[in-house]
Amino acid sequence: MGRSSKDKRDIYYRLAKEEGWRARSAFKLLQLDHEFNLFTGVNRAVDLCAAPGSWSQVLSRKLRGQEEKGETGEEVKIVAVDLQAMAPLPGVTQIQGDITKVSTAQEIIRHFEGQPADLVVCDGAPDVTGLHDVDEYIQAQLLLAALNITTHVLKPGGTFVAKIFRGKDVTLLYSQLKIFFSGVTCAKPRSSRNSSIEAFVVCQNYSPPEGYVPNMSNPLLDHSYDVDFNQLEGPNRVIVPFLACGDLSAFDSDRTYPLQLDAGKQYQYTPPTQPPIRPPYQQACHLRKNNLLSKEDALSNRPNQSQDKETD
Ligand code: SAM
Repeated sequence: MGRSSKDKRDIYYRLAKEEGWRARSAFKLLQLDHEFNLFTGVNRAVDLCAAPGSWSQVLSRKLRGQEEKGETGEEVKIVAVDLQAMAPLPGVTQIQGDITKVSTAQEIIRHFEGQPADLVVCDGAPDVTGLHDVDEYIQAQLLLAALNITTHVLKPGGTFVAKIFRGKDVTLLYSQLKIFFSGVTCAKPRSSRNSSIEAFVVCQNYSPPEGYVPNMSNPLLDHSYDVDFNQLEGPNRVIVPFLACGDLSAFDSDRTYPLQLDAGKQYQYTPPTQPPIRPPYQQACHLRKNNLLSKEDALSNRPNQSQDKETD
């Protein structure tokens, strides 16, 4: 695919580069904020599964902007967590860690000096296998890990926003979220492709059950699978409102747009704002660049790890 063909195919990818966002996902959080007013009164925020950092950029720009205007009562603190390293961002403290670990929750709490967060966001996604059931299951696990961390760090009344796959077990997830939040909405920002089952749960007014003690056990792993959760009925079944965010004036993320959007403005290629530090596809690019991709050659000529590092 040529340099400009992706710009043409994916309007939000292109706009992200033009506006200096590290990933097109920035627009998802911006559009969710537009609908739900997520950042008002927020001083402390946690970005789970943050790399390469476009949501952290949004948090940094918005919250620090509010701070500069004197709209926040306290100092703004943003903590970003990911398994992968992330290039630094102004006002964002980074933790390289696994959100399924209690040690990560403890490290986040330490950064807030015992004070709870006002907002936790999580755009976490595992490496997609293409097997829908497996992908949905792993995504649900990640969401529950994010919820567990959230119960350790979020203040009562606070907000939790997380990516969700609207698969067949989504009702169970809604029920679990409704235990902790009085308001749960499933939202689909315009920048999230219609062709994707991805959506975002916006969970408002954190109010855990009385006496609830946060722990890192996983509710999805702790049940017996002889119950079909889609059969939940009566009070056990929770209907969560679905909201398509934005109106038809926003770009459609599934459409292909011409490169020259504005008749008066010549298209110019913009390189990505922050190239990945060490992406998993780095070795494949190295092999392709050096014409080593044919299977036999790749195996016999494959550089070892240390040579690979030297030529980076
Ligand atoms: N919101 C990010 C942005 O705007 O730049 C994009 C997030 S990306 C779609 C998903 C991220 O989830 C990846 O960077 C991946 O490393 C992270 N992730 C997946 N499993 C994780 C885990 N168990 N702990 C921490 N991060 C995880």
